[in-house]
Amino acid sequence: MFSKPDLQGITTLEGEYSIPIVILSIIIACVASYTALFMNERVKQNIFFNKYFWMFLASIAMGLGIWSMHFIGMSAFMLPIPMNYNLILTIISIFPAVFAFFMAFYFANKTSKTNWHFICIGILMGLGISSMHYVGMAAMEMEAKYYYKPWPFFSSIVIASGVSYIAILIFSKLQSESQPIKLIVSILMGLAISSMHYVGMSAVVFYVEGSIQSNLHHMHIMNMTSLIVIITIGIFCLFFFAGLTSLLGRYADYRLNYFDALTRFPNQRQFEKHLKSMKVSGSLAILHIDQLEKWISAYGYSFGDKIIKIIGEFVQSLKTNTSRVYRIEANRFAILDSKEQHSESLKASIESILKKLKNPLIIDNHRIKLDAVCAISHSDDIKRIEELFSNSMAVLQHPSIQYDHQVIEYDSKIHTFNLERRIIEDIDFAMENQDLFLVFQPKVWSKTKELSGLEALIRWNHPKFGMISPGLFIPILEEQGKIYDVTDWVVEKVCQQIVLFIEEGIHFSHVSINIPGSYITSPRLINVIKENLLKYNIDSRLIELEITETSVIHDIENAITAVSKFKEIGVSVALDDFGTGMSSLSYLKKMPISTIKIDKSFVDGVPTSEKDSAVLKAIITLCYSLNFKVVIEGVETKEQFEFITSFTEAPHIQGYYFSKPLKVNELKGWNQARV
Ligand code: C2E
Ligand code: CA
Ligand code: CA
Repeated sequence: MFSKPDLQGITTLEGEYSIPIVILSIIIACVASYTALFMNERVKQNIFFNKYFWMFLASIAMGLGIWSMHFIGMSAFMLPIPMNYNLILTIISIFPAVFAFFMAFYFANKTSKTNWHFICIGILMGLGISSMHYVGMAAMEMEAKYYYKPWPFFSSIVIASGVSYIAILIFSKLQSESQPIKLIVSILMGLAISSMHYVGMSAVVFYVEGSIQSNLHHMHIMNMTSLIVIITIGIFCLFFFAGLTSLLGRYADYRLNYFDALTRFPNQRQFEKHLKSMKVSGSLAILHIDQLEKWISAYGYSFGDKIIKIIGEFVQSLKTNTSRVYRIEANRFAILDSKEQHSESLKASIESILKKLKNPLIIDNHRIKLDAVCAISHSDDIKRIEELFSNSMAVLQHPSIQYDHQVIEYDSKIHTFNLERRIIEDIDFAMENQDLFLVFQPKVWSKTKELSGLEALIRWNHPKFGMISPGLFIPILEEQGKIYDVTDWVVEKVCQQIVLFIEEGIHFSHVSINIPGSYITSPRLINVIKENLLKYNIDSRLIELEITETSVIHDIENAITAVSKFKEIGVSVALDDFGTGMSSLSYLKKMPISTIKIDKSFVDGVPTSEKDSAVLKAIITLCYSLNFKVVIEGVETKEQFEFITSFTEAPHIQGYYFSKPLKVNELKGWNQARV
């Protein structure tokens, strides 16, 4: 290919270039590089598809890009003789580039990289680009012959490698995710490809033996139709791959969000979604594997993963056809069958799974015996579909539970009673220990964004059940008459904490305490508050009580008297969850309350819903016209905050937008960060 023919008796052919097509070819090379970088990004972002899969897609995009660039570049070239392409070689020419770029992406995505790595990657890319070009050249079929001038030939490869090296260096060293860097790198890559092509073209000398007619015109190596076909194929492929990448990326995000990566079963999120969308019918089994941590601490996490995988396989192979399996927690699988009439077959299938789990498993030459139990509940015991889950969980949380490979069916007499009983039995112990504790949610004055108050909210970290929501245990305590003791406990803890807050230099106007039901009218409450104010030497204005409409509505007259008494001793009272109860505006005027807390439900649709926004605005205006201080609860977003502050009045805001309820230490940090 480098051997020069005898110059006597040959006629060399001079080529000419069409500049617009040259420019087009360079643009195509840059676009292809950009697409490939975009796809390569997924290697880091996504753990769902194998990273080699993304690298492969990126290499195909790059291969196709170089390929289109080459043939468009060739069509910019004009010779005074006709020419064709060998189809097979033309197709084959794409492979070396794909292979070389796959290798280049492979090295580029390795975490530890030395300068040698970059040099290797540069050379690989240079070779990829050049091999495509020279195989593409070999695909030419024409009457003329050609030979290569060695220097420009080798320079073309060196140039391609050199520019690729610089491009990949920039890509790795600078912030590769930033758009400008990606653009610069794509332009450099595009230039590497095009410069290789055009330097490569300057290395080739076309000639014919003998002489040719002098009146032959320069013509394009390819006609315009072929050019359009190539551009269309090239661009179509690039868009196709870019689209495919995005689509696969989205699919992968969906899988990661809704499926467990290890077992590939849908996860807890998906489970909750399915459960909510179901009619009240069917059965739910929850398979619990006990002491999984024991095996993990003995043999490591990957060993634990193997156990779960094996159990997953058992469940999948033995479950009924109509049921779906979810991995809802590290050591729990949910098996849900929406057909009521299948409850017996579901139970039988679970029994066979547990029977299998009773046998020892051999994993990595370790013989292990798993402890497992399965709780099952059916829709005949429930009114709302969510109860299917809470009932199965109540079975698992029962103190008599044993992990002896049994299926235990939910029994309302045993299991419901138990949860309530445990709460009542354990609450005293929880108050004495640190299991029950308070968190404080800041209220912020929207005008100055200063901390205006705090609401004390109770938390229970139960040794057996974990964190239980106040929404669950407070109604039980109320029902069982235990809530008064707990409220007294809260009053004392708040007073103790106020002293500490003042010592810490945290400034606020009050801490509010939630007062349940009709306790506000009890003489016991006012005495408890007076005692604690005295005991801890606290200014009564630092305490605010929150009562709800529903709790006072039945006994408005007494409630008004009680609230007045608190007002007399300097303790203010706020009306909580305003708007959710049987709102009767007539009593509002008579109530000597200082503050109205507008419920979160009025804020949720704001500002997107015009109707909700108008209602919220009207309520705020009404409260101000009655001279109440206003607190808006449940403000979560900037948009909600901005909408609320767009009025002339400046309410106080309580919600996740400013802060969630915080533990004492967190509150100190939150406050310090703001000053
Ligand atoms: P609440 O008095 O209306 O308290 C506000 C609830 O809304 C708190 O839930 C708080 O965490 C939550 N919240 C605040 N801002 C946002 C927000 O921006 N978005 C969302 N989604 N939620 C927000 P929590 O702490 O779970 O308390 C629930 C209910 O339990 C309270 O509602 C209250 O009725 C009761 N509670 C909590 N602590 C006590 C207590 O010490 N005594 C009594 N009697 N009831 C309490
Ligand atoms: Ca409250
Ligand atoms: Ca509230």
